[in-house]
Amino acid sequence: MISVQEALAILHENIPEPQRQSISLSQAYKCYVSRDIYAPEPSPRYTNSAMDGFAVRWADCHNSNRQQPARLEIIGESQAGIPFKSEVVSGTAVRISTGAMLPQGADSIVRVEDTKEDGTHVEIFSCRSLGQDIRYVGEEFKKGMLLFSKNTCLGARELALLAAVGLHTIEVYAPPRVSLLVTGTELARFDNQEIKPHQIRDSNAIMLASAVSDAGARLRATVHVQDSLEQTIEAVREALEEGDTIILCSGGVSVGRHDHVKEAARAVGFKELFWKIRQKPGKPLFVCRRENTLLFGLPGNPVSAFMCFSNYVRPVLAELQGTASINHSLTAKTAERIVNNGKRTNFIRVTVEDKPNEIALIKEIAQQGSHMLSSIVHADGYIVMEPGAVLEPCSLTQVILFS
Ligand code: AMP
Ligand code: MG
Repeated sequence: MISVQEALAILHENIPEPQRQSISLSQAYKCYVSRDIYAPEPSPRYTNSAMDGFAVRWADCHNSNRQQPARLEIIGESQAGIPFKSEVVSGTAVRISTGAMLPQGADSIVRVEDTKEDGTHVEIFSCRSLGQDIRYVGEEFKKGMLLFSKNTCLGARELALLAAVGLHTIEVYAPPRVSLLVTGTELARFDNQEIKPHQIRDSNAIMLASAVSDAGARLRATVHVQDSLEQTIEAVREALEEGDTIILCSGGVSVGRHDHVKEAARAVGFKELFWKIRQKPGKPLFVCRRENTLLFGLPGNPVSAFMCFSNYVRPVLAELQGTASINHSLTAKTAERIVNNGKRTNFIRVTVEDKPNEIALIKEIAQQGSHMLSSIVHADGYIVMEPGAVLEPCSLTQVILFS
């Protein structure tokens, strides 16, 4: 058996080459950019008004006040989307809306609140500074400025900026493609109304499919496989031929007579990277590689499967997308004593109570059995404790959060 650290190091050395692709902005939510992105144009694109009001010449109205307003002739309008075509000359003003292009000749904006209209003319009560309420072309950034460095994740805000500068197609790391093989003759679909007494409902398929999507990857297919060597070989071969980067298997990696995943992978040409880690839960995790495809044989126990996904598969999916930070962690304080009396590294599931301006407080979930889904449902994350480790109350420790 190898240690958790050794397993992570082996995985890190065997990450397949990340794939890149050009993608439409509308498909790019949560993707990571695969190269630096520079502004193709300045922002703002043109000099415009920051206020609804009048575009004027400073020289005409800088001395104006309520008692002695400047009186200017209104010669037209610059609307957002419909610019004024002529020029603001001395003694005139152009009505202007927020975001509308600054007309030629004007050098300042007077907001509506500082004016009074009387038909053809406008009275200006105040114009405090030359250039007031103007947004100048390029004042936010010039053409050619770095907008995003490689590996930035594209969320709502980043997509908005890319759309604003007209970058409609961008290069990102292709979301890794995953196929899921769920083994187990005892399994019934979760929506099966006629489940037999000796069957159990498949909870891993929906759990792992959701976890894959949560990690930014794309699930291509889910295949259910009976505990038969031939069927397992066939399913692994098909996934390999589809070119999926990650094949996730659930169940069938222990030492039982009906556990076929390891042998099936070998038969299809995979080379074992490791099998069995000194950890709890998830000891039988099996990982193998064939060229650019990694196969994870996750233990069938739902909690073990999820913990192995969180600690090993999720970081690999992150690296395939050019990032190391899909897993969120925080420093927290133990509310009570936590110990690992076992002989293996323990992924202890904890609740996290996070109050504003206080260090988060963690408590161990009472029931940690690897067949007890409640141990992950009621937990917010987990801490990694080596054999013999003791955390006294109020000790600081790192928690890996589930989301
Ligand atoms: P295995 O790793 O195949 O030996 O399975 C270990 C345990 O996990 C057994 O009790 C299985 O019934 C259970 N199990 C396996 N696959 C699933 C699944 N997809 N959903 C729920 N439980 C499962
Ligand atoms: Mg099984």
